[in-house]
Amino acid sequence: MDASRALTGLCALLLAVGAGAGPASAAPGDPAPANPAPAQAAPANPAPAQAALADPALADPALADPALADPAPADPAPGSSTTREFGNGPERHEVAATAPEIRGSAATPLSATPDQRWTPKRQGYPRQTDLRVYPQDPTDKSIKLGLVPYHEIAPRLNALQDASDRVSAEVVGHSALGRDLYLVTVTAPESAAEAARQDRWRALIEDDPRAAARDRALHRGYKTPVWINANIHGDEWEGTDGALRVIERLATATDRATASLLRRTRFYVTVTNNPDGRIAGTRVNGAGFDINRDHATSSQPESRAVRDVVIGTQPLVMLDEHGYTGATLIEPATPPHGQNYEYDLYIKHALPNALGMEAAVKQLGLPGTESVDIPFRDYAPGDWDDWPPIFTPMYAIYQGAVGHTVEIPWQVNRGVYASLPVEELRRRSAVNTAVATATIEAALTYADTHRASLLAGQIEQFRRGWAGAPSPRIPDGFVPGFGPEDRYSTEFPRAYVIPVGAGQRSAPAAARLVDHLVAHDVRVTKARRAFSLNGRRYPAGSYLVDMHQPKRGLANVLLEAGRDISALVPQMYDISGWSHRLLWGASVDISRTAAPRVSTTPVKAASAVGSVTAGKRRDLALQLRDPADVRATNALLDLGIKLRHTDAGTVVVPAAARPEAAALARRFGVRFSAAPRGSAGTPFSRPVLAAAVAADELFALREMGFEVRPVSTALLNAGADLSGVDTLVVSSGLSYAQLTPTGKASVDDLLSRGGVVTRGATGAAFNAAAGLLPATAVPGRGDANGVVAVTNTGAVIGLDALPHAFVYSPIWFAGSGFTVEQRYAADPLVAGHWLPTGPGVGGPDQAAGQASVVSGRTARGGRAVLFGTEPLFRAHPKGLYAEFARALYWSAG
Ligand SMILES: [Zn+2]
Repeated sequence: MDASRALTGLCALLLAVGAGAGPASAAPGDPAPANPAPAQAAPANPAPAQAALADPALADPALADPALADPAPADPAPGSSTTREFGNGPERHEVAATAPEIRGSAATPLSATPDQRWTPKRQGYPRQTDLRVYPQDPTDKSIKLGLVPYHEIAPRLNALQDASDRVSAEVVGHSALGRDLYLVTVTAPESAAEAARQDRWRALIEDDPRAAARDRALHRGYKTPVWINANIHGDEWEGTDGALRVIERLATATDRATASLLRRTRFYVTVTNNPDGRIAGTRVNGAGFDINRDHATSSQPESRAVRDVVIGTQPLVMLDEHGYTGATLIEPATPPHGQNYEYDLYIKHALPNALGMEAAVKQLGLPGTESVDIPFRDYAPGDWDDWPPIFTPMYAIYQGAVGHTVEIPWQVNRGVYASLPVEELRRRSAVNTAVATATIEAALTYADTHRASLLAGQIEQFRRGWAGAPSPRIPDGFVPGFGPEDRYSTEFPRAYVIPVGAGQRSAPAAARLVDHLVAHDVRVTKARRAFSLNGRRYPAGSYLVDMHQPKRGLANVLLEAGRDISALVPQMYDISGWSHRLLWGASVDISRTAAPRVSTTPVKAASAVGSVTAGKRRDLALQLRDPADVRATNALLDLGIKLRHTDAGTVVVPAAARPEAAALARRFGVRFSAAPRGSAGTPFSRPVLAAAVAADELFALREMGFEVRPVSTALLNAGADLSGVDTLVVSSGLSYAQLTPTGKASVDDLLSRGGVVTRGATGAAFNAAAGLLPATAVPGRGDANGVVAVTNTGAVIGLDALPHAFVYSPIWFAGSGFTVEQRYAADPLVAGHWLPTGPGVGGPDQAAGQASVVSGRTARGGRAVLFGTEPLFRAHPKGLYAEFARALYWSAG
């Protein structure tokens, strides 16, 4: 995270002004922003006013100004503010992703567990690895700041391992661009037997917390696991340098206190969680993803590595080191608090640990370390919340840790990286490194001092899960400042059922969801025989998530619908709704109170579910419901097999291609059934796409096996070739009004013969400017987001599309002369945060019943589909991908 409270009032104001409504007041207790440069914050609002959507001339010239597009060009000295990262920043709508060379992108996995998972080795300590050394990279952006460039990390760790038997380094995964992700463990040497005992104790805490609570030897001998994650945002560098400093001190200190600490502690550090970004000076990884938004989705190898580390080490305390917020910022966060936490167990330690870190930072006595913000104590509700499990520390809480985001003070990235003198940058980075070091040292001290209580808390968290105990009501004043505004809780259901067989919407979606849950250490079992529950019959092999389990909070936060929290807080930091149950395309039933009565076996991986169920000489049918179905379809087309579709969602495969279909059924878990006899259908081919889209959308399109040529206004004006392209996809970084005659000529040529699929405000502006469909886009509030209920009405998206969608900056379409494919339901917001921009404007009440997706023949002769929803957002809503694919196939036809 990177924002401060000072910005939030300002942002709300700009959102309101941008939508033509009156200013929203700053949250109570909000100090005035110290450095409120409107130009700095303006691009953070990606929802232009309605007029701007309809009028291409107003659409985005200001946003195209590179100076304004820089999210933080100003120079925030400590005490001032940086820009709130709105919806992952303006780049999602204004900067098209231009093909980074992602390792393995051609074979992007569809499964949740594509990599070899990291699990702790079964041996004593040290367990040293000779890390491979990368060639020196003089372009590494760390160098200018006087910090450790990525290529120097392995040599340093190798030297430390040589010098100290307290230090172990290993590789726990690889970045999107294939770079090693390091885990360092610092601890006193352990025999293999001692390490195995620690492993047994760790398992006992999770598997049998009652026994763990009684185990005196465990309480005496269990080494306190503390985990530091550094540099998850690549251009927030100094967490790495601070952590290395602490590692070096612990490795080399000769005092008794350190030796004694290391006999009681395992200190784990993921040294840089984002080497691609560290080197390139970007927030995102090499695939263009913000890893600190990916923990519920696991689309990126960096977040999967961190997931495996937190599961494998089960830390009692963890820090995620970020920057730069002016004053140092240390969580706990503001409300809304995640309703699935055992929040009493968390805040009991999170607040005092933050106070300890605050004291350590202040004690540095350096410029900019005079004050520390603790959002729980200092900010208004909604300014810095811990609601979604997409951030590392919030995710880690569900895994049993007391997790904190830490933001170091002095900005050195983005605009100031280029504009400030090197000496000033290095002065700042030196202070930042000292702050990161101080927070890590203080957290280590806290964890050691309070180890008994922290351990008891983790045991209690898992015990409540197994027992199905309700989360206790937390009284006001439980910790200083805890009040009614902090009280969030939920009633856990008794079980979730993921049916197989006839009651299942999509077999590959069910398998993906099961694998995802298992990879996150949620316990899933499989029924050994058919059973009944709540009056419904389930076949043998159906999956069960019994909520009497240690990590029930995590299970529920992934599977529940969520909650409409619009009325509870004035705004939110990032997304407010998500739901693997509603958005991933698998059928999932809830049993509120009844426990399933059937014998089960634990699931390590979902069984292969692909099949071909049709007579030998029958044509085959494949329903396009899941990205895996689309991937298989594109693979068949790639093989030159002639496919037809009989409706938007049904692909007919000739009987002669049965062997190829069978192979793909095995590979992607998809199901081919018998096509109705005499199915005619329309032949289609794999469309070649030109896409001006955000990085997450580019990733999702490739995940489905589409051939995508990234384009943008600049690339088209520079002569990018659209010959051979069937469909243009527009959601980010393409303005028709800003095309030069060169760019316009190639786009116009495509529009006269090919298709267009757009998403969001940038797409709608393109539609208006290019004169495609006579649809007027109406914007909802720019920061509105969440899971919405929709009604499917059109033949392109199909009546069998999911009844839910995801929105961020929702829009809808007014007018006539097009087909409404999908509408927002009468009460659209299921979960999330969506307020009107002003009285009667831009809210869910205004969206109710309006068109969320439209299609039609364009005035130019092609076909177009416009999405007002977010079917590919951050590669999360897998169940919506197929809608987008259906639009792509249709538009190219
Ligand atoms: Zn950050």
